[in-house]
This record gives sequence, C-alpha cells and structure tokens, in this order.
Amino acid sequence: MAIERLVEPTMANGDAEEERMEISLRPVNFDEYIGQEHLKRNLKLAIDAVKKRADGSTLDHVLLYGPPGLGKTTMAGVIAHELSASLRVTSGPAIERAGDLASILTNLKDGDVLFIDEIHRLRRAVEEVLYSAMEDYKLDIVIGKGPAARSVRLDLPRFTVIGATTRTGSLAGPLRDRFGIIHRLEYYKEPEIERIIMRTAGILSTEIEPEACKLLATRSRLTPRIANRIFKRVRDYADVNGDGIVDVAVARGALELMEVDHLGLDPADRNMLRLMWENYGERPVGLTTIAALTGDEPTTIEDFYEPYLLQLGLLARTPKGRVVTEKGRKHLQEGM
Ligand code: ADP
Repeated sequence: MAIERLVEPTMANGDAEEERMEISLRPVNFDEYIGQEHLKRNLKLAIDAVKKRADGSTLDHVLLYGPPGLGKTTMAGVIAHELSASLRVTSGPAIERAGDLASILTNLKDGDVLFIDEIHRLRRAVEEVLYSAMEDYKLDIVIGKGPAARSVRLDLPRFTVIGATTRTGSLAGPLRDRFGIIHRLEYYKEPEIERIIMRTAGILSTEIEPEACKLLATRSRLTPRIANRIFKRVRDYADVNGDGIVDVAVARGALELMEVDHLGLDPADRNMLRLMWENYGERPVGLTTIAALTGDEPTTIEDFYEPYLLQLGLLARTPKGRVVTEKGRKHLQEGM
C-alpha cells in the first residue's frame, strides 16, 4: 500500500485550498521569482531582444525541464507577464487528439504563450501536428477519411510554446529540436528557500523567526512547492499549539508530526530505501521492482522520489538498476 506523502512534490489532486494557496503565492514577475539566476538572466535577455525588435517577432519556444515543484509553471507565467502576452495553459495528457490541439492552436492570437505541462506525455499523433505548428506556424490537418481525405494547411498566429517536462530524455528528438531555448531548473540553494519561506510568510501574514525559517529551509528538499507546503502545515501547528508565531519550537514540533527528517525525507522516502535495502541489499533493483515494492507507479518513483534521493547521494543509478548507497544505508540506521 502506498503511504500518503507529506512532501509529495505534486499538488494533491483536487485539493482546492492548496490550489488557491499556490495561485496566491505564485510570483508574477522576474523580481518576485527567487533564485534560478542563470535561467532568469538568459530569459530576460531573450525577452528584451524580442521587445526591442518591435517587428512582430516572438520569443523562441522555451523548454524547461527539471524535477516537479521547482517553478516551471510559475516561470511560464512570468515569461507571459514580462512579454505582456496572454498565457494559455494545457498539458500533454490533456490533449487527447490532434483535433484538440488544432482547436487550441487556432484559438491563439499573435504573441500568445502556450504552456504545455508534461510535454513528454503528448501522444505521437498530437506531437506531429505540433512540429509544423512550432516550426512555421502552419497547421496541417487531414479532412475526411479514406480516398476522399485531403490535407489542408492553415496559417496560425505567431505564438510561443513553453514546454515543461520532468525529463528531457523522454522527449522525442524532433520535438526537442523545435525549442530554441532549453533550460534545466536546478534545485534551489538553502538561502533561496529561506527567502521563499519569508516571502510566503509575508503573503500569509504569519510571523516567523529567522532561526525557524532556516530550519524549515533545511527540510524542504530545496524545492519551493515543498517549502510552501511545509510552511502551511507549520503555520497550522503554530495556530493550534501556540500564539500563531512560528518559532523554532513550533517548527520542530510540526516537522516531527509530519515525520520529515533532517534531510527532508518523509516516511515514504525512507520506506522505499528500507524496502530496497532489506530485500536487495547491495544489489541493483529495477524500477518496476521498486514500484512493486512500494505500490507506486514506476513514473512516480522516477519523477518524484528519485531525483532528490539521487541528488543527496542516498541512491545511485547503475545500468542494472538503482542501489542504496552507503550514505543511504547510514541514513536508514540513524533513523530520523
Ligand atoms: P513546477 O511547474 O516546476 O512543478 P510550480 O511552478 O508549480 O512548479 O511551483 C510550485 C510553487 O512553488 C508555486 O506555486 C510557487 O508558489 C512556488 N515557487 C516556485 N518557484 C518559485 C520561485 N522561484 N520563487 C518563489 N516561489 C516559487
């Protein structure tokens, strides 16, 4: 049985309150967007160049990749804002047929930004329509079936696609080639996460002591979404168990309740490492086997659990599968 994840990097499905909170916390411009300085510098330059040209040219298509919760969707909003463009949001799995994409594309206006989350999950037939749309702003559609079928080429407005993916490896080469700007989002540095927590506390009108903020930053997996989610739980805890102020005692109490350990791992992470170690020891374990052990989908393991464990060096990837490293073993022995 899968354990409910407290630090799950995706948004809890259908959690309306969390969705509202995410929207209210989302930075809207480059100044509010903390960290990812390299990415911001490059995008700013590209956007300034487009604005300066003033000949109707649009920003190159942008591909953002990296683990969930690092700010890809947020950055798409920032780019649209900085371009003073409208943002249309969709996702790979949401576009079921080529016709769905055709209708999205024909409804765009010049200069619009189309954000496609999880772009690696686009269906092949849809992807092929996207190629020519991105390449030369043309839409090739086939009308009718069988011998009567004919192909029609429609002009599209000049738009910018921003694709987001947790892994570029799964993206078809021809699709990747259509992006002029490709960037990896990195895990944040702890001081940046501290700034994000301070900003969130300010927006939610909650007082937080600097030491408590520091502590929370060390537990947030260097990921803004998780920092915000943990902060919200800690704030609830402060309201119930104290005077609403987040100090170190409150932060510690809440983290203990959430069972988030000093590396930011939650019970589900530790459970996965433990199951791998107990069943396979030092031998490599295949992804599907790990998924069977934990009761998760292999893609969940690959996208959500693994990146941070790899980053910390608790897990290693070998050609034959994943292994728990010495550091991972030590962490399990230490407990929380
Ligand atoms: P992704 O699309 O990569 O999964 P999101 O863009 O949805 O991640 O980010 C998750 C949340 O984290 C956002 O709602 C936002 O509040 C916060 N966030 C992300 N990046 C930043 C940042 N650079 N500065 C401040 N907050 C951020």
